[in-house]
Amino acid sequence: MFGKVLIANRGEIALRILRACRELGVKTVAVHSEADTEAKYVKLADESVCIGPAPSGLSYLNVPAIISAAEVTDAEAIHPGYGFLSENADFAERVEMSGFAFIGPRPETIRLMGDKVSAKHAMREAGVPCVPGSEGALPDDPVEITKIARAVGYPIIIKAAGGGGGRGMRVVHTEAALINAVHMTRAEAGAAFNNPTVYMEKYLENPRHVEIQVLSDAHRNSVYLGERDCSMQRRHQKVIEEAPAPGIPARLITRVGDRCAEACRRINYRGAGTFEFLFENGEFYFIEMNTRVQVEHPVTEQITGVDIVQAQIRVAAGEKLWLKQRDVIIRGHAIECRINAEDPFKFTPSPGRITTWHPPGGPGIRVDSHAYAGYTVPPHYDSMIGKIIAYGDTREQAIRRMRIALSETMVEGIKTNIPLHQELMLDERFIIGGTSIHYLEEKLAAKSEVGKG
Ligand code: ADP
Repeated sequence: MFGKVLIANRGEIALRILRACRELGVKTVAVHSEADTEAKYVKLADESVCIGPAPSGLSYLNVPAIISAAEVTDAEAIHPGYGFLSENADFAERVEMSGFAFIGPRPETIRLMGDKVSAKHAMREAGVPCVPGSEGALPDDPVEITKIARAVGYPIIIKAAGGGGGRGMRVVHTEAALINAVHMTRAEAGAAFNNPTVYMEKYLENPRHVEIQVLSDAHRNSVYLGERDCSMQRRHQKVIEEAPAPGIPARLITRVGDRCAEACRRINYRGAGTFEFLFENGEFYFIEMNTRVQVEHPVTEQITGVDIVQAQIRVAAGEKLWLKQRDVIIRGHAIECRINAEDPFKFTPSPGRITTWHPPGGPGIRVDSHAYAGYTVPPHYDSMIGKIIAYGDTREQAIRRMRIALSETMVEGIKTNIPLHQELMLDERFIIGGTSIHYLEEKLAAKSEVGKG
């Protein structure tokens, strides 16, 4: 096991990684920007290093500063968390070339899965079901593009191979709009991702977002840890996640999960990862892989009993996977609400000083948050200040516990989206389960119409 790990991230995930390290008996180095000097996890870490001013480009994305922080503190490994540098293959390479372990997949795997065209190709080869569409990148010839679109069938979606964060996509309903849409997406992709390659997929009209968590060691052993449903989204950002996904037969999960684990063995995957799928009419369609820990990993931890962050560290240290697929047993149901510092219905960010902070507790409740009374939420970063996770024997119990937890939570000094979560925990369609990725947006739109009327 490593003696010391550097945590190249901030906020709740920095605290989560710190806790995993402590339980493993590993010392920690927190790196932080000038805006995060006072953060709780920075004080809890064995050592801390300031790596630059508040803007993330100068601190959390500052590769030379992070590498030299690892050097001066004699850390042996770097955990990138999520966001920031976590899916940056060049960073992973620099970490390894500088003699540190990168707690994540090999750089070449990050590169392969970071390009969505090569990722889909690799997944098709491994027998993972993908959204029907173009065989790889779209050609330049408009006649060829038109032919491909006819074969796929409208509506279609044009997507950037290098896209991420819900950007670089365009839905096309008619042939008349096709070529212009391809040109525009190409131009945007070139400017935003430095890669003008685009590809085409069938546009699925009413899918759910269901993803499979995988865990692999460096010796080609892989398991999948069940699925999560993350369909409750606003602007392609997840708001509520749960595991298992309501109403999907176990045999369908087993079939797709086995394919994912097999794909990991084929690409020699190492660490934790997530295969994201759209699920429609009983079929899974792969859209992309995330080669890092995800915000919503706790729901899987609650139903499997596997500590995903500790597992990442253990396999990065070379440990062989201690689990076989038959050891992965799903029990109960877990729901996560992301708590954001924002107006609950207008969604404008609400940074500032938290004056009152009473997190919930009781049976089945877990709170992953770096916030406390007196903590100032900086305006420079993502607005998420923590997550409440409710676990129960059944989905109904998890929902009931979440309602109680939300009602106990008191945050003053800033606005949070807790009122939105309270509404959603009472929403009839959410309670039934299995809503599509458009449900939340449609509900919010309908509400604002009523407000205007
Ligand atoms: P990103 O990396 O930007 O998150 P994804 O490929 O994961 O891009 O797609 C993000 C979201 O866009 C999906 O969760 C879904 O809402 C929508 N989307 C992507 N591809 C399709 C498709 N073929 N049909 C319908 N919706 C899609």
